[in-house]
Parts: sequence; structure tokens; C-alpha cells
Amino acid sequence: MADCVFCKIMAKQIPASVVHEDQHTLAFMDLGQVNPGHVLVALKAHAENVYALDDAQAGAVFRSVARVSRAIRAAFAPQGLSVYQANGKAAGQTVFHLHVHLVPRHDGDGMELSWPVKNPPRDKLEEAAAKIRAQLR
Ligand SMILES: [Zn+2]
Repeated sequence: MADCVFCKIMAKQIPASVVHEDQHTLAFMDLGQVNPGHVLVALKAHAENVYALDDAQAGAVFRSVARVSRAIRAAFAPQGLSVYQANGKAAGQTVFHLHVHLVPRHDGDGMELSWPVKNPPRDKLEEAAAKIRAQLR
């Protein structure tokens, strides 16, 4: 999957602000302009969508989602957290590599970075990623 941006991230060919890594998954802060501030949990193996996962992969993805979600809660105490997987043509995507979006929801008071935000400075995103990473040590 030479053109898959997620496979390139897994191969460390594209830098990512990693907050959690285990045998099967990599979780990182999206530093791009498409989904700034989202934390993405991706399976290391190329799998098109949730339908393609075997039970072991599905368990690994959900375990990582739960761990990173708890870390986001500990770091930012958001009022809510949206968790979704939007792979596929119907979502307007051109990259098909399973990844779950974790999007803290907050009305903005008392938090250093509110989501979603338009074009947040990269250092703010790196700072947020570091706070999440610190909760996963
Ligand atoms: Zn891929």
C-alpha cells in the first residue's frame, strides 16, 4: 500500500505526534489540516475498515481506543468524547486504512485547546499530545 498515508506513518516515513503505541496499534495526534486536534488510533496492519478486522485485531483496536480515551479524559476532562470510524467512499475518503477518531468535546472553558478548532498552531497540538502521552506512561 505504497500510497497509504497511514502505512507511511506506521513505517515512520511520515512523522506523527505519537501518544500511544503497542504491538498492534499506533495512536497519534493529527497535525494536519483535515482533522486538526483529533487523536487517531490506527491498526498497524493495513486493513480497509472495521469489517476487515479479525477478532484479535478488533480487540487490540478497542483496547487502544479505551486506553487513549481514558488518557484524554485525565489530561483535559472534556465534557464528552466522540469516537468514530469514517473510512470509505461514503465518507469522502480516498485513503482506506482503518483508523478511529477520538474527538474530545468541550464548550471551551478552562481548557488549553478546544476541539474542534480551525488551524490550531502546531505547537498547541504537540503540547496537547504530550499531555495525553504523559497519562499513558
Ligand atoms: Zn495502510
